[in-house]
Amino acid sequence: MTQNPPFPSPEELKSKLAEFMKTNFGDKVSFATYTEPETAEAGAEEKPPPDRDEQFVFDFLPRDIKVHLDRFVIKQDEAKKVLSIAVCDHYNHVNYLRRLEKEDATRAQETEYSKQNVILVGPTGVGKTYLIKHIAELIKVPFVKADATKFSETGYVGGDVEDLVRELVDKADGDVELAQFGIIYIDEIDKIAAAGNLTGRDVSGRGVQTTLLKLMEETDVPVRSANDLQAQLQAAFEFQRRGGKAKRETISTRHILFVVSGAFELLKQQVSRRLVQGQIGFNSEPRPVMDNELFQFVTTQDFIEYGFEPEFIGRLPVRVVCEELMADDLYQIMRFSEGSILRQYERAFRAYGIEISFEDEALHLMAEAAAKEKTGARGLLTVWEKLFRDYKYYLAGSGLTQLRVSAELVREPKKVLDRLRAEGHKQEEAALEQNARAFAEQFQKEHGIEISFDDSAMARLIERAQAERMTMAELCAHLFKDYQFGLSLIQKNTGQKTFLLGRGAIDAPDKFLSELVVQSHYPLAPAEKIESNP
Ligand code: ADP
Repeated sequence: MTQNPPFPSPEELKSKLAEFMKTNFGDKVSFATYTEPETAEAGAEEKPPPDRDEQFVFDFLPRDIKVHLDRFVIKQDEAKKVLSIAVCDHYNHVNYLRRLEKEDATRAQETEYSKQNVILVGPTGVGKTYLIKHIAELIKVPFVKADATKFSETGYVGGDVEDLVRELVDKADGDVELAQFGIIYIDEIDKIAAAGNLTGRDVSGRGVQTTLLKLMEETDVPVRSANDLQAQLQAAFEFQRRGGKAKRETISTRHILFVVSGAFELLKQQVSRRLVQGQIGFNSEPRPVMDNELFQFVTTQDFIEYGFEPEFIGRLPVRVVCEELMADDLYQIMRFSEGSILRQYERAFRAYGIEISFEDEALHLMAEAAAKEKTGARGLLTVWEKLFRDYKYYLAGSGLTQLRVSAELVREPKKVLDRLRAEGHKQEEAALEQNARAFAEQFQKEHGIEISFDDSAMARLIERAQAERMTMAELCAHLFKDYQFGLSLIQKNTGQKTFLLGRGAIDAPDKFLSELVVQSHYPLAPAEKIESNP
């Protein structure tokens, strides 16, 4: 990272800006020194900070949280339980400290507590983020997710690690108090294990761990980044507005809960090998997956061997596994999770006027296909998108109103789609034909003249309505706008009451009508001639 010169303090910035204005625009233009009137100042700015109790209330039992998670997250029972307890312990302790702060600030400051920060171990797409997101939503605290591979010793993708804490303020809509109770979730933490250099990446894992450790311990982070020009300018303006009074603007990380996660690919071999060697209840080969059974043998030492600093891992006392999802779990997710992709697709198709429904066997087949992707529940997204892409494209606006997803559809999507499109076509044509007849009936009702369309005229009407994307009523009204006048003229001349319109009436309605009118004056030329020869 390039080192920027130190940013001026608000006072310096103010005088620099004033100087800039003067040199560039002369004495007439100055840097505004607006001061808020006394009353407004006292009312708007210097209002005592709102009582925290009003803003953030934590009143949950572990089982409340678990029940909430059960609505969305399938399987991962152990993780749900462990997280529910950790979250309750954490925020109950926060509650306790807040009460104590009011009674005895020094004691509150001195109270020792090891935060219930969490390590979530598990492969991709099994619900790690999903769990934390739903916890944060339930207890109404801001939540920020970051990727540890984006960290370097000095910073975090162009910014610095403290930006994570500032992001919490953004997520809390600028509410610094609430941000201090937020959750920071860091994924791919296993990639910054020092031994993670096994992957060949030249990351100084140790340095990154130290940087993160600072956040996990208690520290104060400035609300405005020193690298953010806009934020600094805003600070300068506010400083000025407040008549040179500085405002305490730091976020304490004391109560922020940290959750880190990673696949920890090598951990399972590491542990199961040890177990096999030590014969602790395992006689079998090293296990292919990390599950709850194996995870109970994972020790702090294992994480240290993995390449974490003891101080770092020591700050993460709560550890739990999110297990791999099998095909049947993916089926359950589709069927029962409130956040199921199935509901998303129901909504998507409904927006096109199509009610989609699913056969159980079809869902099982989709679950199996998704499991093969080896990306957990993310595999479902891939499978669904691929399967339904053409269905959305071709069936939207096709007139089809029902789509039953059968096992055959999942096995042979193209064949079923072709068939549906042909059927949809027929249905649409039938509807258009019906509407053309309805137009004729209405015409007779309104004008007492019976019109009808021969086969070629009907086929052409349907073709045009489809090609020109008009409703049949619009098309007929447009084509036959002069027919009431013309046909009643003929009726007067000849007494003719019924008119059979041919294809010519659709392609060149005015010509067709005027020829009919001409013929009515010369009755020798029969109308049929015109109809059959448009
Ligand atoms: P990761 O474990 O990599 O953090 P996510 O939690 O981001 O994976 O999962 C991706 C998506 O897959 C989620 O948004 C959710 O829709 C779905 N999902 C993953 N695991 C589960 C699960 N156990 N139950 C229900 N849905 C899940």
